[in-house]
Order: sequence, then C-alpha cells, then structure tokens
Amino acid sequence: MDIREVSVRCCIAGGGPAGMMLGLLLARAGIAVQVLEKHADFLRDFRGDTIHPSTLEVMHELGVLEEFLKRPHQEVRTIGGQIGDVFLQLADFAHLPTHCRFVAFMPQWDFLNFIEEQAKRYPGFRLEMEAEATGLIEEGGRIRGVLAETPQGSLTVRADLVVGADGRHSIVRERSGLESVDLGAPMDVLWMRLSRRPTDPEQTFGRIDAGRILVMLDRGDYWQCAFVIPKGGFDQIRAGGLTNFRAEIARLAPYLGDRVGELADWSDIRLLTVAVDRLRVWHRPGLLCIGDAAHAMSPIGGVGINLAIQDAVAAANILAPRLLKGGVTEDDLQRVQRRREFPTRATQRLQVFLQNRVIGQVLQSTGKLSPPLPIRLLGRWPWLRRIPARLIGLGFRPEHVRLPATV
Ligand SMILES: Cc1cc2nc3c(=O)[nH]c(=O)nc-3n(C[C@H](O)[C@H](O)[C@H](O)COP(=O)(O)OP(=O)(O)OC[C@H]3O[C@@H](n4cnc5c(N)ncnc54)[C@H](O)[C@@H]3O)c2cc1C
Repeated sequence: MDIREVSVRCCIAGGGPAGMMLGLLLARAGIAVQVLEKHADFLRDFRGDTIHPSTLEVMHELGVLEEFLKRPHQEVRTIGGQIGDVFLQLADFAHLPTHCRFVAFMPQWDFLNFIEEQAKRYPGFRLEMEAEATGLIEEGGRIRGVLAETPQGSLTVRADLVVGADGRHSIVRERSGLESVDLGAPMDVLWMRLSRRPTDPEQTFGRIDAGRILVMLDRGDYWQCAFVIPKGGFDQIRAGGLTNFRAEIARLAPYLGDRVGELADWSDIRLLTVAVDRLRVWHRPGLLCIGDAAHAMSPIGGVGINLAIQDAVAAANILAPRLLKGGVTEDDLQRVQRRREFPTRATQRLQVFLQNRVIGQVLQSTGKLSPPLPIRLLGRWPWLRRIPARLIGLGFRPEHVRLPATV
C-alpha cells in the first residue's frame, strides 16, 4: 500500500454540487485545487435533480450554458399542486430576470459529470475519486491539510485552505469540532420511481390530502415520486404492508393505479431522512465549510443544490484573489460566512415554518383538506405566483461569477 503526499493551494473534501463547482471556479481562476470524492462515480444516492434558474445563470456567466442545455433534461416552467380536490398553480418562472426561466431537471450525476468536464480544461484541477477524507492535519492551531484513504493507500493533501463540502454527514465538520444547531424536521421522505405515460398530466405536481403528501417530478419516461411521511414513520408504513402502501399512492394519484405494481418490494422504495441544521461558525483558521456541510437543507422548495452552488460562487469570488496572492486569513473566511449566512438563515426559516405549520399539520390531519387562504390567492392572482417562483428559482441574494478565466 502506498503512502502518498501532495501539496495544493486548496483541498476540497466532497465532490457534490458545492465541492465540484468550487473546484471548477478556483481552477478556472488559476489555482491548484484537489477535490476528494469518496465514491467511485457520481451515481450516488439520490440528492435532488433540480438545476435552478440561478445555477443556470452561473452557467451562462461561465459561458457554458448552451453546451449544458444540450444534455438531456426536462424544463419545468410552472409548479402546480392539488390540495384536497382543488388544483392550483403555485409558481410561475416566466418573469424571472434570468436567461433561463425554468427549472432544469437533470440527474445529478449528469450535472456533476458536466462540471468535471469543464473543470478538467484547467491545469490546476485535480479530482480523485474513491478518496475518503478521514481526518484533518492541524499544526499550530491552523488546519493545514486533509488525510484520506484511497484503494491505493493513504493520501495526505497539504493545503493553504481546506474546504469541507462533504455534505450533511460531513467528516470535515465533525473533525473540526465546529458546533452545529439542529433546527429539526418533522418528516422523512420515501423516494420511488413509477413509469410515466403520455396521457398523464404534464406538470410537476404536488398532491396534498388528509395525512398525506405526494410530490411527483416529471422525468420524461418516469415519475420520480416523493411520499412525505412523519419522521421515523417508515416502520409503521412497512408494517401496514406493500399492498396498502400501493393503494395509498393510487388514492392520491388515481392515474398511477395501473402501475403501482411496479413497486415489487420494499427495496424499490428508498427512505431519505430529512435534517435541517447549520453551523454557528463556518470556519476555523485554514478551514471553511460550505453547502450541506455548513447547513443541511430540507427538501422543501428543492433549493439545497442551489444554495450549495451559490456558496461555492461566493467562496470563490472572495477567496480566489487571496489564494492567488498567497494566503487566506480568518477574516476572509468570515466574509464568506457573512455573505452566505443571510440567504441560508432566511431559506431555512421559511422551510422550518412550512415544515411545522403546513407539512407537520397535514401529516397529522385526518379530514378532507382545502387550500388555506394564501394558497387560494396564488391560484386566483397569477402575478402572486412570481413570489414563490423567485424564492425557489433565485433564492435570497443570488451570486454572480466575478472571477475572470485565466486560461
Ligand atoms: C430527500 C431529499 C430530497 C432533496 N431534494 C432536493 C432537490 O430536489 N433539489 C435540491 O436542490 N436539493 C434537494 N435536496 C437537498 C440537496 O440534496 C443538498 O442540499 C445538496 O446536495 C447539497 O450539496 P453539497 O455539495 O453541499 O452536498 P452533497 O450533495 O451531499 O455532496 C457531498 C459529497 O461529498 C462526498 N463525501 C461525503 N463524505 C466524504 C468524505 N469523507 N470524503 C470525501 N467525499 C465525501 C459525498 O459522496 C458527496 O458526493 C434534497 C435533500 C433530501 C434529503
């Protein structure tokens, strides 16, 4: 077994949306960067397939939007929902001040492969797959690098800056001792696929009824379905049997009744636990956490990938000039947190409000549901649908690529 050691300006643990985008932006600015990803490829657990208008705008600013949109994807321009028996339009992206006025649905591995292809155009970019960060190198009160395990043996990466972008179960965050605040989530999500027929409704769709929430994302020839359950409730659902579970899905979306049999056993249904938390301080000397490693997001609004990428853009804008000149101070890292903390807090506040006041109550309800007044107003006045469209599509404080390409 080898023991390898490399030195770079920046080492990023985690090749998800946050880590890969930061790697691309830093390499594009002429910085030597090493990304460590523990999996062998990007075909990982489902982590959301949504590419929001703000991310598409970043692609435009990087000059790769046209190429990106050649990859197979679906474009969702409005979002609707059915509450009880009433169907309503809830969000309309047509008025966003962006080049793309839609959410692109693309498997996350295709998105990450695309970012990797772009990043590899720059000589400073290095990605090592099957490299699991296991520890941090700390000297004189400063983080100086990352220890990783690979199939070839141990790898030590020494770096001026270490970035933890290794998701909500972040090892970097745990090893750094940074303290996190758990905001709680009353729900988990069961995730499954059912085939889609040309006669099915066209749009992305949420179905809410007594005690039940089903979200269906149009993925071309199949529906990606998210069935929201009370936190820890999966065992009870399993105990009720697969036949009852299939009937529940068919009750919420009757046109799926002829194909719920595709759920042949429980292995066709994945449990995704939901967590919402954030670090009090996102950094230590020589170390910064971004994306879910700094703030795990609820799936509400499907904005976690978006926020992770916005963190990467802000971090690159602030830190790349410093890394090029030699060093990053804690003040620089604090500037990144200050820049991104407001959008994170504001988004999580909204998610927690919706989790507790809407989703939690729906999951406990037993009678027929009707839409509350604010939702009815969205249905009645189309211009109001611009508000959720903006929150979902752009979020708070959208970031823009400020760094010129060096190559
Ligand atoms: C049920 C559910 C549904 C969701 N749906 C959506 C959605 O539709 N749209 C949306 O925008 N967001 C969604 N989210 C949130 C979204 O998945 C995250 O917010 C987003 O993926 C965060 O990106 P990230 O790069 O910070 O972390 P991640 O995507 O978690 O990426 C972290 C990467 O680090 C790697 N890694 C982990 N540990 C190590 C290690 N020790 N060493 C090296 N590599 C490591 C992982 O393999 C992974 O590739 C959903 C979340 C949940 C729970």
